[in-house]
Amino acid sequence: MSKEDRRLLIIGIITAVVGGGIVAIVFTDQGAAVFDAICSSLVSLVVFCWDILVKSLIGAYSVPGWVLFPLTIITAYFLLSLLMAVQKKWSRVEPPLFTRYVEDFLFDAKWHWSWREGAVKNLHSFCPSCEGQLIYDDSNCDDIYEDHCDTKLICENCDYKIISTIRGYAEEALARVEREILRRVRVGEYPSNISLPSQ
Ligand SMILES: [Zn+2]
Repeated sequence: MSKEDRRLLIIGIITAVVGGGIVAIVFTDQGAAVFDAICSSLVSLVVFCWDILVKSLIGAYSVPGWVLFPLTIITAYFLLSLLMAVQKKWSRVEPPLFTRYVEDFLFDAKWHWSWREGAVKNLHSFCPSCEGQLIYDDSNCDDIYEDHCDTKLICENCDYKIISTIRGYAEEALARVEREILRRVRVGEYPSNISLPSQ
């Protein structure tokens, strides 16, 4: 390797590292570590190739044509990828506020759930005293002599204490809780005793 080639290589590496560092600082945030890593690598490579291209164009270095061609392709490809990644990051839509509403006290029990595409998922009830997950007993719904059936929410950890009774089969009871959650979301009725996770 000639002296000029070594100098070219050193300049390229330095500019790549500095460029990657600048981008890592500019784009770093807690929620986009993978994006940052990819972004930094792309920019490092682009800066390296760009440096060689510019130096060869202004005549600072004589670089063979067979080297310039792939360098140009790589630079253009990664520059385009970088622009698309930046555009995607900046156009990321924040999830709506209601998706942070994931717990409440309903029908005398504590409830936790998650959101997926605007629907309540993984709805579970818990004992207000011991936080134990409640079991559902709708066995009286099988009795044809019962006037109506209901679902008992029972805490086995509190000596099988009945925490709540909701009318209907267990499925219907859960659907009723879900409807109440959706109603509160619709009217913006987030209870004051629920601390929504901070952004
Ligand atoms: Zn309990």
